[in-house]
Amino acid sequence: MSPHPTHSWSTSQLVEYLAVLSKQPDEECALQAAVERVIESLDAEIGIVFGHAPLTVVGLPAEDPHVATLMAEGTSRSPAPVPVAGVGLCRVATVALDVEDDALRLLVARAGAEDFTPDEMLLLRGMAWVLNLALRPLQVMRTLHERQRVLEQVTQVQHALASRDPLPEVFDTVTQGARELLDAEFATLYLAEDDELVVVSVSSSAHTNWPPPWASQVMRVKSGVGRLAYLTGELIRVDDYPACPIALQELVDNGASAAMAAPVRENGKVVGSLTVVSFRAGHAFTKSQEQALLTFADQVSMALSDAKTMAAAQSAMRDAVTGLPNRVLFVERLEQAVAAGTPIHVIFVDLDRFKLVNDTMGHAAGDDLLRQVGLRLRERLRPEDCLARFGGDEYAVLLENTPDAEACRIGEAMLAAVKESYVIGTEEVVVGGSIGIARAHGGTADAVLRDADTAMYRAKRAGGRRLVVFEQSMHTALVQRQNLEADLRRAIDDGALCVVFQPIVDLRQQRTYAAEALARWQHRRRGLVPPREFITLAEETGLIGALGRRIMETACAQATTWPAGPPHNRPPNVAVNVSARQMQDPSFLEDVRTVLADTGLAPHRLTLEITESTIVSDLEAVVDQLHRLRELGVTIAVDDFGTGYSSLAILRTIPVDILKIDRSFVEGVDDGWQGGAFVRTIVRLTETLSVTAVAEGVETRSQADALRRIGCPLGQGYLFAPPMRADDLALYLAGTRSRQASVEV
Ligand code: C2E
Ligand code: CA
Ligand code: CA
Repeated sequence: MSPHPTHSWSTSQLVEYLAVLSKQPDEECALQAAVERVIESLDAEIGIVFGHAPLTVVGLPAEDPHVATLMAEGTSRSPAPVPVAGVGLCRVATVALDVEDDALRLLVARAGAEDFTPDEMLLLRGMAWVLNLALRPLQVMRTLHERQRVLEQVTQVQHALASRDPLPEVFDTVTQGARELLDAEFATLYLAEDDELVVVSVSSSAHTNWPPPWASQVMRVKSGVGRLAYLTGELIRVDDYPACPIALQELVDNGASAAMAAPVRENGKVVGSLTVVSFRAGHAFTKSQEQALLTFADQVSMALSDAKTMAAAQSAMRDAVTGLPNRVLFVERLEQAVAAGTPIHVIFVDLDRFKLVNDTMGHAAGDDLLRQVGLRLRERLRPEDCLARFGGDEYAVLLENTPDAEACRIGEAMLAAVKESYVIGTEEVVVGGSIGIARAHGGTADAVLRDADTAMYRAKRAGGRRLVVFEQSMHTALVQRQNLEADLRRAIDDGALCVVFQPIVDLRQQRTYAAEALARWQHRRRGLVPPREFITLAEETGLIGALGRRIMETACAQATTWPAGPPHNRPPNVAVNVSARQMQDPSFLEDVRTVLADTGLAPHRLTLEITESTIVSDLEAVVDQLHRLRELGVTIAVDDFGTGYSSLAILRTIPVDILKIDRSFVEGVDDGWQGGAFVRTIVRLTETLSVTAVAEGVETRSQADALRRIGCPLGQGYLFAPPMRADDLALYLAGTRSRQASVEV
C-alpha cells in the first residue's frame, strides 16, 4: 500500500478532505477542489494535475506557456527552480497520484528560495494519495453511469431503426436521446445537403421557449459549433457560448450558455453533426460529457450508415418511376410463395400502345402514364396482392390463395381500369392492355411466369384489349418461339439490346489493338440471353438486318469516343460481327456506308468479322461482296478460322486483312510441339500473305507465352480482358481499370 501521511495531517483532516472531494459532481471539479486545497496547505502559488497534458491548472491560466515548462521540469529527477512571469522564481515538487502507476501527477510550484521540506513532501504525497482515492470511485461510478445512459439511448435509436421507423422519427429519437444524455436543454441534428448543413431534427426541453417554431422547419446554418464540428470532423466544446465568435445569434439571444457538437459520419465520411446546447447560466459541459456525446454520435453514425444501406437496398427493389416493387422484388416474392406451396396466380398486364405515347409525347409523358396505370391497377387489387412494374410497359401481379374465378374477376377489373382514358398534361390519351393469367401447378416460379407471359402474348396477338387465361395447349415450342421472336422484335426497337466490347491486344506491347463488339440481350424475364441463341433466331426470322444495323451503329458511335494511345497514337479499331444472312443481303453494303457516314468513324477503323463457314457456303457471292466492302475502306477479318473446313488456300482467293484463329486451336497451343503445330502453320501462312493473325480465347499465361514464341501478333481472351460495357472499356483504355478485372455486362 501507499505510505501513510500522518505527520502533518490528522486522520480527521484526511477524512474531511476526502469528503470534500467526493461531494464534487465530477472528476473535473474534484481535481480543481483538490489542487486548491493542496496549494493552500503548502502555501504554494501554482498547482497542476497532469498526465500527457495538463488536466487541471490552478494559479495560472491553463494555456499559459509556463505550464509546459513547469511540467517538463517537474518530471525531471531533481527539478531546478523555474522562473514564472508575474510570480517569480518557483521551486517545483511533483508526486505521482498513484504510486503504482504514475500516469497522473500532481505538481506544486512555490515562489521563493525555500525548497520543499521532507515533511511537506510527505504531506504532498498524502494529499495525492487521498486525491487518487477520491477520484477512483468517482471515475468508476461516473464511467459506469455514463456508459449505462449512452447504452440506453443508443438502444432506443437502434430500436427505432430496427422497427423501420421513418428516418425523421429515428432522427428525433437521436436528438431527444442526446439532450437527455447530456442534460441539455436543446439538441439538433444537422445533415449536409450539397455541402450546406440542414437541420433535420431538434429536441428541446419543456422549460425553454427555444427553439422558435421556425427552427423545426428546414433551416440551413452557415456557422455555429455544429458547422465547425462538421467541417473539422472533431468534437467542439464551447463553455462560454455568448463569447464564442461563431455562436448563432438566435441562440445567444435566447440565453444559450454552453454548447458541444460532435461529427456524425456515414460510412466514415463526415455528413453532419449532433449539437447540444445548455441554457443554464454558468453551466458548462464536462470532459466526461464530451466523451458521452462522442460515443453517442459514433453510435448514431453507425446506425445512420446502416439505415442508408437499408434504404439503398430497399430502393434497389423498387421501380423509380412508379414506386412499385420491381422485377427483382416480385420474383423474390413469387419464389417464396412457390417454395411455400401456396396456391398462386400470376397476372401479366402489358399496355397496348405505350410506345406510341412515349414516341409522340416524350418520356416524361410516358413516365406519367406508367405512374397513372400503376395507381389504377393498385386500386383494383386487395392489400395483400403484390403489384410490380416488371419492365417497360409491363406490370405483374401476384395473387395468393385465390380461387380461379376470383383471379379472373380481378384480371377483368384491371383490364377495364386500364382501358379508361388518361389525362397527360393537357391531352387525353387512351391505351389498352393485354392481360394474361396463369396458375401455378406446383411447378417453378419460372414456369408460372412463362405461362402468364404466353397467355399475355395470346391476348396481344389477338389484337389486344383482352384477357387470356393460360391453357396447357398454348405451351408448344412453336408458340414459345413466336413469343421470343416478338420479344426480340421489341428489344431491337426498345434498346434492350446492348453491346459489350472485348479488347484485342498486341501480344508483345501492352496495347489495345481493337475491341470486338459483342451483342447482349437483357430479356425482361429470361435475363441475359446469350448471342448464340438470339443471333440464330434473328437470322431465321429475318430480324438480323435490323439487329445488325443497331449493333454496328452503337459500336461505331462508341469507337469515335475512344482515345488514341501509345505507342502508335492510334485509337483502337472496332470489330463488328457480320452474319451469313447479312452478307447475302444486297443492302448490307449501303448499311455500312450509312453507319460510317452517320457516326463519322474513319472506315479503316471498322473491321467486319465474317465467320469462315459463311465464306465457304457461298464463296463467289461473298467474295464479290467482300471486294465491295473493302472498297469502302473497311478491313475484313475471317472469324473462327479453322472450324469451317476450308483449305488454307482459300486465303489466297479472298480479300482479307485479319485472321482470327478459333479458340479450339488456341486451347492446346501450349501443349508441346504437337499442340502448337496448327497455330504455328497458320501464323507462318498469315506472314507470307501479309495478313494479321489474332488468337481467340486466350485464357492462360502459358497459352499467351506459347503464342508469343510462335510469333502470333494479336490475342483476345479472358486472360487479357473480358467483354465489358462501354463505360468500363473507357476506363480500361484510360488504363485505370485492372486488366484482370472480370466484369461482364
Ligand atoms: P465470336 O465472334 O467468336 O466471339 C467471341 C466469343 O468468345 C464471345 O462470346 C466471347 O465472349 C467469347 N470469349 C472471349 N474470350 C474468351 C475466352 O478467353 N474463353 C472463352 N471460353 N470464351 C471467350 P459471345 O459474346 O457469347 O459471342 C458468341 C458468338 O455470338 C460470337 O462468337 C459471334 O459469332 C456471335 N455474335 C456476338 N455478337 C454478335 C453480333 O453483334 N452479330 C453477329 N452476327 N454475331 C454476333
Ligand atoms: Ca467475332
Ligand atoms: Ca470467333
